Amino acid sequence: MGHHIAVVGAGPSGIYAVQALLSSRAVERVDVLESLPAPYGLLRYGVAPDHPKTKTISRALARAFEDPRVRFFGNVHVGRDVTRADLLAHYDAVVYATGARYDRDLGIEGEELAGSMGAAHFVAWYTGHPDVLKPAELDGTTTLVVIGAGNVALDVSRISLQPLALLSGTDMPREVIDEFGDWAVCEVHLLARRGPEHVKFTRVELAELLTLPDTRVVIHASDAELAEHPDHPREVATNLRLFREAKERWADAAPEAMAKLKTMHFHFWTVATRIEGTEAVTGVDIETTRPGEEPVGAHIEAQAVIRAIGYRGEPIPGLPFDPDACRIPNDAGEVAGTDGREYVTGWIKRGPTGVIGTNKGDAAETVATLLATLSDPARQRSLSAPSTRPDLADALAEAAKEHVDWMQWQRIQEAENALGAEHGAKSIKLVDREEMLRAAFGEQ
Ligand code: NAP
Repeated sequence: MGHHIAVVGAGPSGIYAVQALLSSRAVERVDVLESLPAPYGLLRYGVAPDHPKTKTISRALARAFEDPRVRFFGNVHVGRDVTRADLLAHYDAVVYATGARYDRDLGIEGEELAGSMGAAHFVAWYTGHPDVLKPAELDGTTTLVVIGAGNVALDVSRISLQPLALLSGTDMPREVIDEFGDWAVCEVHLLARRGPEHVKFTRVELAELLTLPDTRVVIHASDAELAEHPDHPREVATNLRLFREAKERWADAAPEAMAKLKTMHFHFWTVATRIEGTEAVTGVDIETTRPGEEPVGAHIEAQAVIRAIGYRGEPIPGLPFDPDACRIPNDAGEVAGTDGREYVTGWIKRGPTGVIGTNKGDAAETVATLLATLSDPARQRSLSAPSTRPDLADALAEAAKEHVDWMQWQRIQEAENALGAEHGAKSIKLVDREEMLRAAFGEQ
C-alpha cells in the first residue's frame, strides 16, 4: 500500500510539497489541510494587490489539485478541528507548511498605541484575510512611519501612496478600498537601521517605489554613502544606483511643483526610539547614528507607524520550536526529536526569508528526506505508522465539521469573479468567512 501524507497549510510552500510528493509513485494519497476556506496562503493574503502578475503563480499551483491522489480540506483548523494525534493516526507522515504570518515586536515605548501596527497585520487586513480585523482607525492619517528595509516595508509604503483609482481596479475587498479612501497619506518615512548598501530590497520593487506617480522621493544619504565600491555584490550596486538616480531626479525640482506631490523619505542608520501619543500615535522619536558619528535625535509627527521588521511563525503544540529564529528545528525537513513521521517546509522550516520560488527547492529537500525515511527498512521498523487509516473525510463528517473541497473553493472564486465584474475589476475578494462558505456550499 502506498504512502498517505497530510500537508498542513495550502500556501505556496505546502503546495510545492504536494507537487514534490506527487512525483513519487510510492505516494498514494495527499490530503491538504488549510484553516481558511481558500488556498494559496501568503500568495493570496500577502502579495500586494497591485502585483497581479505575481499572483498568477496560483495557476501553476492549482494544477497539483487536478491529480486524483490529492484532496483539499479547506476550513479545517489543525489544533482545533483536527489534532496532531489525529493526523498521526490518519497518515504515514505529516508535512507542516504553516508559514510565518505574525508580527515581531520592536519592544519600544508606545508600540501598543492605536495606529501602531505590524506589517503582517496591516497586509493581512488589506488583502482581505477573513480572520483579521482592521488594525486601527486610519481616518485622517497623513503621515506614516514605516520601520524596516525589506520588501514588506516597500509594499506597505507603496500601497499607502498608490492612487486610489489604481487600487480600485485590484482584488482588494471593497470595504478596504473605502477605508483607503478615507486615509490621506501624503508622506511616508521609511526607517532603515543600517546604511543604503545594507537594505534588503529587491531591484524591481525598489525601482517601483522610487518612480510612483505623483510622489517625490527624498533620499537622506550623502553622495559618498550612495557611492558604489568594486567589492559590492551586484544587488547592492543596483540598489545604490537606483537611490543615486532618484536623488538626482529630484535634486532640481521646482518647489512649487513639489508642493502638490506626496513624499517618500528614505532614512538610513535610523531607528525609532519611542512612539509618542496618549491613546493614538501622534509622532515618532527617531535617532540616526552614522558609523563613527554621535547619535542625532529628531521627531516625526505621524498618525500611524508600521513595523515591517520580519514575520514570525507560531509553535505547533507538541513539536519543538526555536523562539529566537521563530522556526521548528529540523534536519533537512525532518522535525528534530520526532520519530521520522513529521516534517516541515517553507518559512516554518527555515524562517521568514526568501521569495515564493525559494519554497520550491525547500519543499523538494523536505520531501526527499520524507520519502527516503519512509522507504528505509531500518527507519521503518522504528516508525509508529498507523496500522489502520481512518479517512479524514469520515472523521470530519462524524464531527459535523464542514470542510471546503477543491470544487467548492472554485465556487468561491466564481463568486469573487462575479463581484469583480460588478465593480469593473477582474475579481474582488470575499472577506467574511461565512460569506465564503455560503458561496462554497452554493447557498445564497
Ligand atoms: P526582511 O527582508 O528580512 O527585512 C526585514 C527588515 O527589517 C530588514 O531591513 C531588517 O534590518 C529590519 N529589522 C529587523 N529587525 C529590526 C529591528 N529590531 N529594528 C529595525 N529594523 C529591523 O523581511 P520582510 O521585508 O518581512 O520580507 C520577508 C521575505 O519576503 C523576504 O525574503 C522578502 O524578499 C520577501 N518578500 C518579497 C516580496 C516581493 O518579492 N515583492 C514582497 C514582500 C516580501 P537588518 O537588515 O539590519 O536586519
